[in-house]
Amino acid sequence: MTDLSVANAAQAPAFDVDAVRRDFPILSQQVNGKPLVYLDNGASAQKPIAVLDAMDRYYREMHSNVHRGAHTLGDRATAAFEGARETVRAFLNADSTREIVWTRGTTEAINLVANGLAGRLQPGDEILVSRMEHHANIVPWQMIAERTGAKVVPIQVTPEGELDLDSFHSLLNERTKIFAITHVSNVLGTVNPVKELIDQAKARGALTLVDGAQAVPHYQPDVQALGCDFYAFSSHKLFGPTGIGVLYGKAELLEDMPPYQGGGEMIERVSFERTTWNTLPYKFEAGTPAVAEAVGLGAAIDYLNGQDRRAMEAAEKALLERANQLVETVPGMEIIGTASQKVPVMSFKIAGLHPSDIGTLLDQQGIAIRTGHHCAMPLMDFYGVPGTARASFAFYNTLDEVEQLFAALQKIQRLFA
Ligand code: PLP
Repeated sequence: MTDLSVANAAQAPAFDVDAVRRDFPILSQQVNGKPLVYLDNGASAQKPIAVLDAMDRYYREMHSNVHRGAHTLGDRATAAFEGARETVRAFLNADSTREIVWTRGTTEAINLVANGLAGRLQPGDEILVSRMEHHANIVPWQMIAERTGAKVVPIQVTPEGELDLDSFHSLLNERTKIFAITHVSNVLGTVNPVKELIDQAKARGALTLVDGAQAVPHYQPDVQALGCDFYAFSSHKLFGPTGIGVLYGKAELLEDMPPYQGGGEMIERVSFERTTWNTLPYKFEAGTPAVAEAVGLGAAIDYLNGQDRRAMEAAEKALLERANQLVETVPGMEIIGTASQKVPVMSFKIAGLHPSDIGTLLDQQGIAIRTGHHCAMPLMDFYGVPGTARASFAFYNTLDEVEQLFAALQKIQRLFA
């Protein structure tokens, strides 16, 4: 019999999840004849009606190119676009909108920084990252290291999936020029003590970048309190549209960096003798930007601002607690990543089952999870696995959905392992 009755079941949090779910129309559909249980939020989160409406309204009422406004629609589009930038500035508590650069996502933001800082690197310099990074925070640094003769050095992780602080301390030295670290691991859910790490890296004179892709759906970062030089995130994981993301950078550093791409918008004056760059942040925004997407991201942040973030956090915590309680109900199930500070992300394996089979069998039950290496191959190597199955929860998931996941896993384990 399916036994989901583990003692001390999590108390339902004071958070109206049913009301919230009505804001996300995609969730109330059937997939493979079953109600959709969407647990792949770490890969990309769903969008509330507020975001869909804001983008729809933008295209119906104000679309035009921005910053060229000799006409009313151009002015409206520019106001909406720059309004979204101000919303992001406030969300991150950045000092100025000059420090908020639109990118295509976290990946492009990190590539921009890596290219922008290349001129500061020399042979023998070190770029300190960690073994739990997404490839987006490894490969751009490797490419720059190859160009400059610098070296990418990984901080080790503990078997529990925490950053190995001894490794961090032993690797941080006067050769460390850049320290680039994920705020939250996309595989393990581990929340890294980034403030503490940044303080120490800065004391050694390193520049610091935080990959916030997996943090922002759960926490609102304060870049000034963190003291980081750069912070990157993607809109699509923050309940906004795909195709846009954000690079926060300290103004004096962005001023000092060369442009990333050339073209329209990013220049002050072009001549064949000498071309000069636009002011911040436009120097880094070549070409027509993703205007509707910026508006959509602004709407996603406004939507979150309208919620009780503490209640949301408590609800997410309850989901993870419930999932942890249920692990023992699936024979042979093992969680990868048991850090004390975690967001609701659960990577796991089940003895006798391949992760991709788990994913396919769950999909047949209407349950969407992610399987594979999660763009974190060095971490997979550390755990000696080709991949994991990963359920990643958002505030709109329910305790009932957690139980459905485990009921399905029990069945899969019984029939196929
Ligand atoms: N960093 C982390 C921790 C991620 O989880 C991801 C995406 O999964 C990325 C970076 C890359 O984000 P994007 O593909 O939106 O650029």
